[in-house]
Amino acid sequence: MFYVKTKINEETTITTELTDENVFTICPECGKEFEIDLYDVFSNDGDLYSTAIYCAECSAKRIKSKN
Ligand SMILES: [Zn+2]
Repeated sequence: MFYVKTKINEETTITTELTDENVFTICPECGKEFEIDLYDVFSNDGDLYSTAIYCAECSAKRIKSKN
């Protein structure tokens, strides 16, 4: 299990468990926020801190433009 700890102030820290439903990223192409599955990122040898993940629409456009 992984979780995120966010310190709000001296007394309050929020701990949020990472699940397959609460991890999001922003597409570097169009800026759209979308849900990602960390399992998919890791299974593609992704680097959690530097990997940019394109949304489905931009991924499709990028694949088309390469052909
Ligand atoms: Zn996009």
